[in-house]
Amino acid sequence: MAAAELTQIRDAVRKLCASFGEDYWKGLDATRAYPTKFVKRLTDEGFLGCLIPETYGGAGLGLVEASAILEEISRAGGHPGAAHAQMYVMGSLLKHGSEAQKQEYLSAIASGALRLQSFGITEPTTGTDTTSLKTTAIRDGDDYIINGQKVWISRVEHSDLMLLLARTKAIDKRSRKSDGLSAFIVDLRQATGNGLTVKPIDAMINHHACELFFDDLRIPAANLVGREHEGFKVVLDSMNAERILIAAECIGDAGYFIDKASAYAKEREVFGRPIGQNQGVSFPIAQSYAQTRAAGLMVEKAAALFDAGEACGPEANMAKMLAADASKLAGDVCMQVHGGFGLARDYHIERKFRETRLYQVAPISTNLILAYLAEHVLDLPRSF
Ligand SMILES: Cc1cc2nc3c(=O)[nH]c(=O)nc-3n(C[C@H](O)[C@H](O)[C@H](O)COP(=O)(O)OP(=O)(O)OC[C@H]3O[C@@H](n4cnc5c(N)ncnc54)[C@H](O)[C@@H]3O)c2cc1C
Repeated sequence: MAAAELTQIRDAVRKLCASFGEDYWKGLDATRAYPTKFVKRLTDEGFLGCLIPETYGGAGLGLVEASAILEEISRAGGHPGAAHAQMYVMGSLLKHGSEAQKQEYLSAIASGALRLQSFGITEPTTGTDTTSLKTTAIRDGDDYIINGQKVWISRVEHSDLMLLLARTKAIDKRSRKSDGLSAFIVDLRQATGNGLTVKPIDAMINHHACELFFDDLRIPAANLVGREHEGFKVVLDSMNAERILIAAECIGDAGYFIDKASAYAKEREVFGRPIGQNQGVSFPIAQSYAQTRAAGLMVEKAAALFDAGEACGPEANMAKMLAADASKLAGDVCMQVHGGFGLARDYHIERKFRETRLYQVAPISTNLILAYLAEHVLDLPRSF
């Protein structure tokens, strides 16, 4: 896509975000409410379905454009985490779903008739060790029966569908670590209360994450996505997209913090001069700016590789880590520059500071990215 068209997309997102100012997000944060109106506008204006091919009613754009959309939402003070999964989860369906599944779901997702906002992977007892997960899916005639537990599954109460990863082969029968897991579409509207119990988690940020309890939940075998036992590959395709898109959000968060810190450092006067005249104030902002620009280049590189259909594991992981570090630093600098006012909710910074902190641990923690780079890029001995 030409640079001018990307600018047009950024301008359109900024315009949309201007109708949902920072008080909108502050109000939602205080009441733990979901940004229903914002997500509807994003869907109606085609942004949430931007990665869905035109044949299925989407805009047929790439990750470069999707990244720009999420970055702009963050930069404007919004929390794209409320809706971002709709962009990356459908990638698994697109790449591994049957034609019947694509026909059934993708155009409905693009139009907003169906919401695919949930990605059910993490479990309380296995955490980061995804390939050891314990939730089982046992074939029974035309159904699978699901039993087990998930934790931290975001937006379940604001989604119609969830992509679930469950074990279809006993752990001692698997041929390799990733063997024996399968991916399924769960229709949350039918499942909730009929074998699926959803319990919201009271958390530091307004991310609508829940615990899920599966007790003999029946789902049609037709909801299997890709091949049985090969579900890890199915979700992996969404995971690289997820890392790149969340990295873009972090770049937006960092830009938000740098904008606010710079403006305040110019305007706030103490000792008879703007605080930004002190290098102890301006240098951390400048350092954070340089770090953010560098991380942004890695995000662009990872998104371009993804769109070209090339391997992008190292770049997606590095983009996520560098961008999350950049936004964490920028958030800290912004808080410091604001002195006591950084802690005042009316300044909005503390909310964004809490939100961006998530990305040190989710969707993958910094340690696990370093472990990936050490083993798969630098060929160092495997640690787990
Ligand atoms: C708000 C929120 C929303 C989330 N949304 C979703 C969602 O929608 N879907 C979903 O599936 N999950 C979701 N998650 C889960 C998230 O992906 C996990 O929290 C994350 O993967 C870490 O898992 P854990 O919390 O079990 O940490 P653990 O695996 O228990 O790890 C704890 C700490 O130990 C470190 N650690 C563990 N093993 C090693 C090792 N071998 N070497 C070095 N360090 C190690 C980790 O880096 C981490 O810092 C969400 C989490 C949060 C907080």
